[in-house]
Amino acid sequence: MDTSSKPLFMIMLGAPGAGKGTQARMLSEVLGLPQVSSGDIFRENLRNATPLGRLAKGYMDRGELVPDDVTIDMVMDRLSCPDCAGGAVLDGFPRTLAQADALRQALVAQDVRVSLAPLLEVSDDAVIGRLAGRRVCRDCQAMYHVVFSPPKVEGVCDKCGGQLYRRADDEPDTVRNRLFVYYKQTAPLVGYYFAHGVLVTIDGDRPIAAVQADLLSAVQAASV
Ligand code: ADP
Ligand code: AMP
Repeated sequence: MDTSSKPLFMIMLGAPGAGKGTQARMLSEVLGLPQVSSGDIFRENLRNATPLGRLAKGYMDRGELVPDDVTIDMVMDRLSCPDCAGGAVLDGFPRTLAQADALRQALVAQDVRVSLAPLLEVSDDAVIGRLAGRRVCRDCQAMYHVVFSPPKVEGVCDKCGGQLYRRADDEPDTVRNRLFVYYKQTAPLVGYYFAHGVLVTIDGDRPIAAVQADLLSAVQAASV
């Protein structure tokens, strides 16, 4: 898709399980922009047992947010890579007003603004069902659902043949805490991006392809 030559920074908003990662990956492929997922970066650090991974682990296991200073530094570092010069699809960041302000300042310094912040609206009951059945590829992080988006062969990634696993923080108790944290700390970003004129609300309680189509229309509208 041709989205003109100005950098396109998109922020995927929505509760845990709303479909941000699934849609961000598709957008990243269609738009040729990197997907920047703070959760994926933390999980990669966990796998590699880096100091950052060790620091983040306790927060992630409890379904809490990793402190802002650490998270902001980590994502700004990623956004400063040359592949993000034309923009990025951000998924899972920002999650607090402080993170949103830090991102805004970093972009303004390059004379760039967030172009679009789609909010995927999904009922709480639906997100609980989605997280309970979520499976992720250990190798390429592709996303599946045992009912809504199953792999061709159970437990095996269609794209790379990697093994699928269930995230530890998708256990019901942790999911409830993650939802609580979302409403308390992240939901205010909806008002923040509305006030900046870039919020687009999308009914995320529909099949993946229908949500995709609305997102692509929103990108097209934001790019003209
Ligand atoms: P998030 O990144 O917002 O936490 P994910 O993209 O990981 O959410 O999606 C959570 C789960 O829901 C995954 O198992 C995914 O396959 C599934 N899923 C995503 N979008 C939809 C949809 N529109 N309908 C049904 N299931 C979906
Ligand atoms: P996610 O993959 O987006 O569901 O994130 C998994 C976990 O990583 C979250 O529950 C947090 O513990 C941590 N995390 C991811 N992104 C952020 C963020 N922007 N700020 C703070 N913690 C985060």
